[in-house]
Amino acid sequence: MIDAKLSDNTWYEATVDRGGLRPALTGRVEAEACVIGAGLAGLTTALELARRGKSVVLLEGRRVAWGASGRNGGFVSNGFAEGMGNVAKRVGLPAAQALYQLSRHGTEFVRREIAETDPSIRMGDGWQGCIRYSNAAEKRAAVAEMTRDYDQPMEFFDVAETRARVNTKRYFQSSYDPTAFHMHPLRYALMIAKKAEAAGARIYEMSPAVSVERQGALWSVRTATGEVRAPNVVYCVSSLDRTLHQPTGRAVLPVATYVAVTEPLQQDVIRTRSAISDTRRAGNYYRLVDEGRLLWGGAITTRVSEPARLAERMKGDMVSVFPELGNPRIDYAWAGLMGYARHFMPLIGSDGQGQWWATAFGGHGMNTTAMGGILMARAIGAKDDEYRRFAPYAPDWAGGPFGRVGVQAGYWYMQLKDRIDERRYGKAA
Ligand SMILES: Cc1cc2nc3c(=O)[nH]c(=O)nc-3n(C[C@H](O)[C@H](O)[C@H](O)COP(=O)(O)OP(=O)(O)OC[C@H]3O[C@@H](n4cnc5c(N)ncnc54)[C@H](O)[C@@H]3O)c2cc1C
Repeated sequence: MIDAKLSDNTWYEATVDRGGLRPALTGRVEAEACVIGAGLAGLTTALELARRGKSVVLLEGRRVAWGASGRNGGFVSNGFAEGMGNVAKRVGLPAAQALYQLSRHGTEFVRREIAETDPSIRMGDGWQGCIRYSNAAEKRAAVAEMTRDYDQPMEFFDVAETRARVNTKRYFQSSYDPTAFHMHPLRYALMIAKKAEAAGARIYEMSPAVSVERQGALWSVRTATGEVRAPNVVYCVSSLDRTLHQPTGRAVLPVATYVAVTEPLQQDVIRTRSAISDTRRAGNYYRLVDEGRLLWGGAITTRVSEPARLAERMKGDMVSVFPELGNPRIDYAWAGLMGYARHFMPLIGSDGQGQWWATAFGGHGMNTTAMGGILMARAIGAKDDEYRRFAPYAPDWAGGPFGRVGVQAGYWYMQLKDRIDERRYGKAA
């Protein structure tokens, strides 16, 4: 497991009660499945396996949802990190539609679990995606494509409608997805952990898996102080362990992204409680939370440590979009690590020998981790093979350090292209 030094001083940690630390694994235990990694992929897999009556052990190297799942933007919406246009190009429209439908099941799972147990985890509805240059035809076409090809309810807002909700001259047209919502991701993850335990799953914290070996018909998963023996092992470690299972470890690149939360603000520029993003390819995403704090995410790098002066940098991004905010105090700023495959789609599969994986959910994991967990549990628990829809997106080598350089270069290229688009179309409104 990689030794990433990520701050735990997040607004999410400050607004939950985690309760006591769960025990570390000691001695040998047996189960029908050993799931490794208690982010939302591993937690959903464990919950759904336990609900199917399977005995399951979940090993977490640090604490439940310590990774991206407990420190992300909290936007939940259908789809994947890869755009559907590219998915359809690669697999054809019918297969792309089937994948989109699976991603929708993920969104609906999250919505349902929250509604059933703790509706206060859901913090707002809808997602407005704004463009920073004027191109109504392009935005309308994107909205029409999603409605026509994927049956995705979506609205088009012109410049006046856009700015009535998000009052900045930086934005022109926008789309609005009424089926999206946003939530407190750490509270959600902790709720799923509790539900999994109530259904019979055993969760061990501070128990990084250090090796996985075949022992007859079983897999032996070892930690420093214990061992799990199971016929099935599910890798849900994202980019936080790239050696435990080599084929997926080599295929997943760690990409860091950042969030900052301001003091409670008195402001009249962000007039919606929906989630908002701007379609700078290396975009900003943000929302108002609780008593008017602005939770702002953005920037990606391939550095795994938190850059110095993160809070100042994030404030600079906020103020460049909303100069009216002045000089807001930043109360929290942190980094998180995502896992990306080269094709930007999740890696969901099996070697046919009892090793399974659900990983590489990139920057669009709130619905897709739920989907991945459900697919894993259906495959292991009921021999259902719908997970094979992801077969066109097999793990390929992501290029190691060269892959990282490629991601960073790609980001800089996207930033440059954003600036060119903004200059070319910006004055048209
Ligand atoms: C800042 C940020 C903002 C984001 N915003 C959004 C958003 O708004 N909407 C959205 O849809 N997605 C968003 N994402 C992406 C989303 O958070 C991820 O795709 C998703 O949480 C990935 O879940 P996971 O379970 O695959 O990985 P993680 O949550 O990273 O979990 C992996 C777990 O595995 C554990 N682990 C690793 N190695 C071992 C080992 N050897 N043994 C035991 N345990 C191990 C880790 O400790 C970790 O807890 C964002 C991500 C970040 C970082």
